[in-house]
Amino acid sequence: MEATSELVKQFTDEYCEYLKDESRSSGKAHFISFPTCEMEVREVLREAAILQTVVTVQGARTGIVAGAVPKGGLILNLSRMKGLGEITKAGDQAEITVLPGTLLTEVREKIEPQGWFFPPDPTEASASIGGMVAANASGALTFYYGPTRCWINRLRVVLADGDVISLQRGQVFARGRSFDLTTESGRTICGSLPSYSQPDLKSAAGYFIRENMDMVDLFIGMEGTLGVITEADLRLIPIPKACHGLVIFLPCEAAALKLVRSARGEQVPGVPTVEVRPVAIEFFSCEALDLLRRAKEKYSAFEKIPSLNPRWHTAVYVEYHADKDEEAEQGVMQFMEVAELLGSTEEDTWYATTHRELEPIKAFRHAVPEAVNLLIDERKREWHDITKLGTDMSVPDEYLEAVISMYRKDLAAKGLEFVMFGHIGNNHVHVNIIPRTPEEYELGRSLYINWAREVVRMGGSVSAEHGIGKLKVPLLELMYGSQAVEEMRALKRLFDPHSILNPGNLFPS
Ligand SMILES: Cc1cc2nc3c(=O)[nH]c(=O)nc-3n(C[C@H](O)[C@H](O)[C@H](O)COP(=O)(O)OP(=O)(O)OC[C@H]3O[C@@H](n4cnc5c(N)ncnc54)[C@H](O)[C@@H]3O)c2cc1C
Repeated sequence: MEATSELVKQFTDEYCEYLKDESRSSGKAHFISFPTCEMEVREVLREAAILQTVVTVQGARTGIVAGAVPKGGLILNLSRMKGLGEITKAGDQAEITVLPGTLLTEVREKIEPQGWFFPPDPTEASASIGGMVAANASGALTFYYGPTRCWINRLRVVLADGDVISLQRGQVFARGRSFDLTTESGRTICGSLPSYSQPDLKSAAGYFIRENMDMVDLFIGMEGTLGVITEADLRLIPIPKACHGLVIFLPCEAAALKLVRSARGEQVPGVPTVEVRPVAIEFFSCEALDLLRRAKEKYSAFEKIPSLNPRWHTAVYVEYHADKDEEAEQGVMQFMEVAELLGSTEEDTWYATTHRELEPIKAFRHAVPEAVNLLIDERKREWHDITKLGTDMSVPDEYLEAVISMYRKDLAAKGLEFVMFGHIGNNHVHVNIIPRTPEEYELGRSLYINWAREVVRMGGSVSAEHGIGKLKVPLLELMYGSQAVEEMRALKRLFDPHSILNPGNLFPS
């Protein structure tokens, strides 16, 4: 079938990069479109209906669960739909209207010189705002500031038929689990929210559902399955005046885990508690540090990362935000005292007290997944079908040590290469298995499923921040059961009756 409007192009090889995202998996497409405004998005969706074709929505394609990888049909790429309004101040906060293709870096460039801060920080600052909302992106600062959801005041969403829903936070609520929403054309969409309940921890698995919920929250984290986000109002706060970060290197993992609990304000036998709460607590396993040492020797892109002493075993990163330097310093000092008791010294510390000094530390944090991806790319040259196996699971506080020791025991038993890193403040440590052969890939996959079962048994989530996308579809059912998944599908049908949007995301296509 041929595209008829100027906005939709026949897919040709010149667009082949749009078949992929950062998951490194690849799809196929017949048409592609780069709308620049909401009107054009609506037109493209109407044309998709005429062409009877499915649509895959793309932001900046930094997602790692293949959510933006097309499964045939039309690619709706929003990277040219950029724009930022003026900052409007309301009391001690502010707000800015942003179009979905605007990148997080572009938001920061506009708001930070004017003294404003948008806390969601999914490590990859080249993510788009539409993608961050659709995925409810999190990151290191989520430990204190919460995920993207907490920073969205208003959304405009174009539905599969081209109609629009506009939702201001605080205005439209479900009644128990029933809701009705009125579109801009005056149509009312009535329905019931699924009956499942979600664990009370960091989770990005499935639709966000609560009794009496604010209906704007349904569209945050829906992974493009209910509509296309065409505008968002972001909530801003003043940039913290003091921002201190430090990486502490420790002689063993057990010491690092005690330090994490102390930094969270928990009681640990024989270890004092840090009274000041950090905004981020991140973890780097000994395997992650080794990988960075190797990457620094091999790739010039890793030159910026400071050298890593061979003596250093495990690292913990914490960040303190405050109104005054002295307050942030107080947290840092208390944290360092505890770290010393656990075997670290002043030489085993990188300490930054300004945003500029923090840059190499942030580059260090970003470098771990980047180094894994480079290694996978090398391996893929020999074994085309292998990919990284990256877990994204969170567990309740009491299971932190148990889950890490489960990962370690199973990986050692199978002899797999891996790194562990990430958001340990939320008991959310990523295990990245780096298979050397297709056999190892299969072994890793079966471990992953077993771990997901165990994590669900512990009361955790199969996806704490990356979402389900196309790669983790079986895990959604494992977490909630088949009836809940059927209820999610029924909810999708209310907004997208012909299942046009993002086939393969959340549900088997
Ligand atoms: C090195 C690295 C580190 C990362 N670390 C983190 C991390 O710490 N925390 C974290 O949460 N994520 C992390 N990510 C994943 C990723 O950056 C985030 O998920 C990000 O929010 C994706 O934004 P994007 O614009 O690239 O979206 P895309 O990848 O283009 O799309 C993501 C999903 O959103 C949908 N979508 C995109 N735009 C829209 C729209 N306007 N309307 C409706 N649906 C839409 C897509 O269909 C897809 O399902 C990391 C990625 C990389 C590469």
